[in-house]
Amino acid sequence: MNKKITVIRGDGIGPEIVTEAIKVLDKVCEKFGHSFEYTDILMGGCSIDACGVPLTDEAVATAKAADAVLLGAIGGNTSTSPWYKLEPKLRPEAGLLKIRKELGLFANLRPALLFDELKDACPLRAEIAEKGFDMMIMRELTGGLYFGDRRTEVVDGLETAVDTLIYNENEIRRIARKGFDIAMKRRKKVTSVDKANVLDSSRLWRKIVNEVAKDYPEVELEHMLVDNAAMQLVRDPAQFDVVLTENMFGDILSDEAAMVSGSLGMLASASLNDTKFGLYEPSHGSAPDIAGQDKANPLATILSAAMMLRYSFDMDKEADAVEAAVSTVLKEGYRTGDIKAEGCTVVGCRQMGDLIASRI
Ligand code: NAD
Repeated sequence: MNKKITVIRGDGIGPEIVTEAIKVLDKVCEKFGHSFEYTDILMGGCSIDACGVPLTDEAVATAKAADAVLLGAIGGNTSTSPWYKLEPKLRPEAGLLKIRKELGLFANLRPALLFDELKDACPLRAEIAEKGFDMMIMRELTGGLYFGDRRTEVVDGLETAVDTLIYNENEIRRIARKGFDIAMKRRKKVTSVDKANVLDSSRLWRKIVNEVAKDYPEVELEHMLVDNAAMQLVRDPAQFDVVLTENMFGDILSDEAAMVSGSLGMLASASLNDTKFGLYEPSHGSAPDIAGQDKANPLATILSAAMMLRYSFDMDKEADAVEAAVSTVLKEGYRTGDIKAEGCTVVGCRQMGDLIASRI
């Protein structure tokens, strides 16, 4: 299969980790007989330096013409970098908001899983970590409280602030469909998280999710209130497969799930629109403190590339091969500095990429 991939190396460790992900994708091409064509665009601080804005319209057009986008990370040291003296709409992060909006990316996927070999890094009690977990948080990204009307005004002499949590049935239906589609590629269970005992928006959420579920008879659906979900994530994370939820609940729960899995350098993510198109990036930032030192952990980016294979290209066995290679290399005891443990061999970013590619 031929695929076009737009590549955003970005700032800080971005270029280093993307180079390793491409090394692994090239190995996938070689092994499975595919061909990937890469086109670089600038975004973030490097685009500000070269073009005066964090993302140009030409770069957006290039991204739109691709089958998927692979992103490293953007941004610099927010205290010292001159990029943060610019007005907010010209700062690096504005590029990220613009590309998400322009590409219509409404579904954010964040896997949280505990690799067997990294169980010691899990902050949960040993008997919970021992069971392991492998869940996918599916968060709605473009609606809800963060996008509703808001204002601050004086009412009866008191300063009063209002935020509006708004969803229509179409916004709920399209993310629910994505959630069930993803569940069909996994263990076929969806936990829909809401606050239907209090919120109207949650009652509509639950109603539409139930409707969509009728089209997926093989998938088990359960509803869970968000306060209970936050508790269950630390009490028994093994129970979850796909966690489907709205924007703010997903924002909070995905960070909680990331925390319990122990290492930022391991966490992939994807943002999808209503076609197969997606933007794939690690959950961490540009780590300017270790940039250019060959210390970055490229595994989150490599695992994001595996998600691209699975969800945008329907290359499930190729994605399996990348994920298996990551497990193998960890089992063999290789670690980057951020996940090092006693008795392990510490390697740099480049060597980690070489090892993963060689195990495919
Ligand atoms: P960060 O995730 O970049 O770093 C937090 C800590 O984790 C640092 O000590 C860093 O060295 C370490 N770390 C992160 N990724 C690592 C990796 N792959 N390997 C080894 N260690 C790693 O968060 P931050 O320091 O708060 O932010 C730095 C910059 O990144 C800021 O400009 C921020 O706005 C930006 N940022 C960008 C994105 C993105 O591009 N999507 C996301 C978050 C933050």
